[in-house]
Amino acid sequence: MNGDPKSEAIAASNRWQNASLDTGGGHTRVDEIFAIDVFDLKKMRQRLPKSVYRSVEDVMSGGGKLTHADADVIATAMKDWAIERGVTHFTHWFQPMTGLTAEKHDSLTIPDGEGGVVYRLSGNSLIQGEPDASSFPSGGLRATFEARGYTAWDVTSPAFIIRGSNYATLCIPTAFVSWNGEALDKKTPLLRSMDAISTQAIRILKAFGSDEGVTSVGSTLGAEQEYFLVDRNLYYARPDLVSCDRTLFGSMPPKHQQLDDHYFGSIPTRVLSFMAEVERELSCLGVPVQTRHNEVAPGQYEIAPLFETTNIACDHQAIMMQTLKSVAGRFGFVAIMHEKPFAGVNGSGKHNNWSLSTDTGVNLLDPQDEAHNNLQFMTFLCAVIRAVHKHADLLRATISSASNDHRLGANEAPPAIISIFLGDMLEDLIDQIEKGSPSRTLKGGNLDLGARSLPALKRDSGDRNRTSPFAFIGNRFEFRAVGSTASCSWPNTVINTIVAESLDFIATEIEGAVKERSTEKQRESAIRKVLQGIIKDHRAIVFNGDNYTEEWAEEAEKRGLPNLRTTPDALPVFKDRKVAAMFKKFKVLSKPELESRAEIFAEKYVTQIGIETHQMISIARTMILPACIEYQHRLARSIKASEDVGVDAKSLREPLELVAQRIHTLNLAIEQLKNLLEFRSMESFEASIFIRDHVLGAMESLREASDDLERVVDHDLWPLPGYSQLLTIR
Ligand code: ADP
Ligand code: MG
Repeated sequence: MNGDPKSEAIAASNRWQNASLDTGGGHTRVDEIFAIDVFDLKKMRQRLPKSVYRSVEDVMSGGGKLTHADADVIATAMKDWAIERGVTHFTHWFQPMTGLTAEKHDSLTIPDGEGGVVYRLSGNSLIQGEPDASSFPSGGLRATFEARGYTAWDVTSPAFIIRGSNYATLCIPTAFVSWNGEALDKKTPLLRSMDAISTQAIRILKAFGSDEGVTSVGSTLGAEQEYFLVDRNLYYARPDLVSCDRTLFGSMPPKHQQLDDHYFGSIPTRVLSFMAEVERELSCLGVPVQTRHNEVAPGQYEIAPLFETTNIACDHQAIMMQTLKSVAGRFGFVAIMHEKPFAGVNGSGKHNNWSLSTDTGVNLLDPQDEAHNNLQFMTFLCAVIRAVHKHADLLRATISSASNDHRLGANEAPPAIISIFLGDMLEDLIDQIEKGSPSRTLKGGNLDLGARSLPALKRDSGDRNRTSPFAFIGNRFEFRAVGSTASCSWPNTVINTIVAESLDFIATEIEGAVKERSTEKQRESAIRKVLQGIIKDHRAIVFNGDNYTEEWAEEAEKRGLPNLRTTPDALPVFKDRKVAAMFKKFKVLSKPELESRAEIFAEKYVTQIGIETHQMISIARTMILPACIEYQHRLARSIKASEDVGVDAKSLREPLELVAQRIHTLNLAIEQLKNLLEFRSMESFEASIFIRDHVLGAMESLREASDDLERVVDHDLWPLPGYSQLLTIR
């Protein structure tokens, strides 16, 4: 070890890698490991008087409001439960438009006047909080001096305890609004969109006479999260990872993911210990985890929860990202959620599995065995097809960010063109609807594996399509284009709203076409006609082929599907009058609320690129350039020293000239990028276009110039840990 920070980081990382963390345990009982720290309905039933518990149930099903007296009783029960578990503080936990979570802790204790303390949580403090809103992004909704903001308890999402070795905090999920009630967060619009889709879905159920006992319909969400683990020591030796969560420089090592040997491979011990700890913590927080596995790129992994009601799933998704980050440190890792931390290998997404379910537990997107007889399923299916076709551009805009732009369309993730994959069975079904009355459901049959000892497998009625941005998966849709850093709240707010709009359209058509005296046959035929019209108008969005090909991009253009390649191309959709009218009609976002979001997305895009360009220039100038100059000097000294003693050093002249030339290119690239920094003083939308047209290319050139040098400069001198270490030490 020569004492420089890079070598020390690598040595320390190797020590971590060699230390086995597998304690060979397994003797503890599962229920001891997974002690749940959540104040959910079950706890409320145990601890609340019957009448108060009933009012909570009423509020949850959207049928009532809490009284102050009830709130006081609930607060006391919640406080008692929390202090039994060592809690000292509570916080309203919310999701401002930064896309992260926010908390401000208050003590549960107050002095009792006799030298001791009493514990207190009033109904008022449970229901309403007032954090200072001035420093959260509001996208122009509020001026900085207009600081008041309120948090409001979301009864539907269970409170939970976050603990560390010397603290335990009660977190109460809340919505966050401004002084005049405008949504300053991601939860409020999501809850409103859940109301909208419930109202419209129930109209459809009514038309089918299947609304009995149903008081609400909610969307469900299971969000698969991909992430990278990087050794903590190496991470801190890379200023680009520290400030941007992605490498701005780095040439590819000879071996990365070409052999596909990481995907679903056996999980390294240190990583598995980390995953087990994450799952234990999540389970204590009431977040049910279903799967874990290695992903495609070396160092890339995935965790998937069990699906839940979207609102709770979104809270849990935020908790999951936080837990991945906080637990990683204990195992000497940093968890990276960025969509593209490493150029040249796969990036990370968040597959948003979405469906609709009644509060009686019926999945409305489950076709069941005889789908062709299931007209109600076909109606919900058509609503999704229509919604995605009408709002393909909005869906694209919804998932756009500087970081997701590296991924969409990069031949590993879905393209920026939004389309729907239905699979053979459903494609056949919509063909039949289009022609008239469906009479068959394609079956997958059985698979004979040809060996007597192997069982016959039941085959699904359609294959999967990993290239599609919006794919039907048996009983749900998977929106695969969502970025791994994204909060799920916003994409699901949009999906709920656009589907609510289509359900509204279909319900109105059906209500108009079906007369009260209609026979069953007439009713069905009227509904089929409505669906037929929808398929005719909107089937252009359905594409079952390979979404990665050039031919699809051409075909999509012919079909009139939008191809918004970058965030600056996509953002103007939020300013579309029709989009604003839809959000307003379904009471999800007012026009100013929508505009504020557009402003925040643009600002975030520009700020993120601002940080990246600044960081790039700084690393290039203060780390890479000095190392390259030193190498150039070393070669020159070597030539001179050889020639001084009469030894021919001709073979060193070529490398010297090459390095000198590449340093010149690097210098030019630094200057070029520096000259483009004017975008930082432009208005956000204008700046985003300028970035797309000029800055991104200059960043690419600077990276190339540096990566070219990395391939020739003495490894000892190179100041940053390289990809081969970052991707393989685990
Ligand atoms: P994949 O094979 O697509 O990678 P995973 O098992 O990793 O699938 O994840 C599938 C996700 O879909 C899980 O989070 C699962 O709970 C979720 N899911 C299953 N059914 C539904 C549903 N009805 N609504 C929403 N999400 C669902
Ligand atoms: Mg998966």
